[in-house]
Amino acid sequence: MLPVQENYRYIIVGAGASGLSLCCHLLEAGVRDRILILDRKSAFTDDRTWCFWNVRPSPYTDLAIRCWHRWEVRDTQGNEARQESPGVGYACLRGLDFYDHAQAKIAEHGNVTLMLGSAIENVNTFPDYAAVEANGISYSADYVFDSRPKTVPARGGTASTQRFYGQFIRTDTPVFDPARCTLMDFRTSQEHGLHFFYILPFSPTEALIENTYIQDCEAVGLSPEQHRTEISDYLAQKVGLTAFTLLREEAGAIPMTTQPFPKRDGRLFFIGTAGGCTKPSSGYTFQRIQEQCRQIAEAAAGGTLDRFRERLAPARYRFFDSVFLQVLHDDPGNFPEYFYRLFARVSPEALTAFLSETSTWRSDFQIMRSLPLGPFLRAALKSIRG
Ligand SMILES: Cc1cc2nc3c(=O)[nH]c(=O)nc-3n(C[C@H](O)[C@H](O)[C@H](O)COP(=O)(O)OP(=O)(O)OC[C@H]3O[C@@H](n4cnc5c(N)ncnc54)[C@H](O)[C@@H]3O)c2cc1C
Repeated sequence: MLPVQENYRYIIVGAGASGLSLCCHLLEAGVRDRILILDRKSAFTDDRTWCFWNVRPSPYTDLAIRCWHRWEVRDTQGNEARQESPGVGYACLRGLDFYDHAQAKIAEHGNVTLMLGSAIENVNTFPDYAAVEANGISYSADYVFDSRPKTVPARGGTASTQRFYGQFIRTDTPVFDPARCTLMDFRTSQEHGLHFFYILPFSPTEALIENTYIQDCEAVGLSPEQHRTEISDYLAQKVGLTAFTLLREEAGAIPMTTQPFPKRDGRLFFIGTAGGCTKPSSGYTFQRIQEQCRQIAEAAAGGTLDRFRERLAPARYRFFDSVFLQVLHDDPGNFPEYFYRLFARVSPEALTAFLSETSTWRSDFQIMRSLPLGPFLRAALKSIRG
């Protein structure tokens, strides 16, 4: 162990979505103790976009570059389930806007040090402090928040991975309808797992096209080249688009599992994806990160971190998530139809509240009625038996 060279009240490992969100929430909550943020990357890049339903209040809704109030899902036959809602929107935040916003907030306060180029080698927790080692230097803090990716072992064969590859493209002539985004277009092969295309049209000539697979977590994902070919084939065959300019690409692999993630180890807290913020049935993480960070910041400001226990969503959603993953595991071929039914039969307000874990029992009932009883009841029984 290295001798400790600097002491802080809080150290945040990782300046990504959860690390920076936590710092902003701490500052918003009035925390003025010394905070150190360490990340191995050397610069912030526009490495991802975050989308979320603007159902819960979010500090980032106003920063979104686009918010669609109309959206659609297409089944394998091309049937369209269209929804629109003046009140609810699907907001899209650019990674770089989020990073800039967080850095501007940090710059307003003298108590935060952000150090890039700091790959963390070790984090140790002791009764009175926790220590982090980076670049041969040891930093100590009363509490450490760690967002480095962590693998949680799969349980019972129902863990899946959502793998996606996206291309931001520009066309010479208008092709897209920027008023409506496509959440899932299943008009593609379902041979290697649940497979769909996701289209976010930013203007008539610019869009993000994402090729997404939800597969068993042991399945091998496609190479970037294979994804690119599938995207070009899809654009040529389903959108009638053969010529476009590629602006940039993004990719991800998101764990979808109801296996509990360890939340803390003494003075070390796990946050973000590593802290179990990903919604198991959808892979959406950003809004849950905001809720986790808000709760941690509130406890930190109130001096109650030692006895902190987070509560991201009512317990019943855990059960719904496990039923969903079980059906996905047992019956993947029918999933495009199930999604189509949800978007065709449930009101947009009830569906988006359900997806955002803010629904009522009454609207949950709308969801249940829209789906076939047999497969979901069998999966529910399996989930109860564990
Ligand atoms: C391309 C992409 C698109 C996504 N889109 C959505 C979306 O639309 N909606 C949604 O809800 N979720 C989305 N997600 C899922 C999730 O919201 C993001 O992955 C989110 O960034 C997770 O936040 P995080 O803080 O856990 O991890 P990250 O944002 O990845 O941050 C972790 C940080 O830790 C740093 N780090 C890692 N190892 C070390 C180390 N050893 N030492 C120091 N630093 C280290 C990394 O450099 C990184 O900056 C997306 C994910 C990806 C990859």
